[in-house]
Amino acid sequence: MGQDCIFCKIAAGEIPSDILYRDDVCFVIRDIAPAAPVHLLVIPNEHFTHLDGLTADRHGMVGAMFQAAAQMASREGISKSGYRLSINQGDDSGQMVDHLHLHVLGGDRLGAMA
Ligand code: AMP
Repeated sequence: MGQDCIFCKIAAGEIPSDILYRDDVCFVIRDIAPAAPVHLLVIPNEHFTHLDGLTADRHGMVGAMFQAAAQMASREGISKSGYRLSINQGDDSGQMVDHLHLHVLGGDRLGAMA
């Protein structure tokens, strides 16, 4: 667990959050400040920060996150209309939480990527 990591605290139940999905690898919550009508966060249970530390033993973790994202998109009814997956990494991306997470955005026509 990362000290003072908000996502680790949510995973541990120390910060209350409505967990929409959970398995051995990751869990899904709604973003507290949604940037689209549907804005979910897929978060690995393990505290892991940056993709430059991604080793082969964690490829399954990343795959499971994408699978959870696709399942949740289907559950939210945005599979056919489309959605965007994004991962912020580092300062220039505006990453605020240093625990890997996949944004799932959809439910309306999304603006152009920066
Ligand atoms: P990023 O900028 O990629 O690090 O995204 C972090 C995201 O976490 C932001 O979109 C925040 O709105 C979201 N966030 C921060 N705290 C919470 C929380 N307690 N519950 C849900 N989402 C959160």
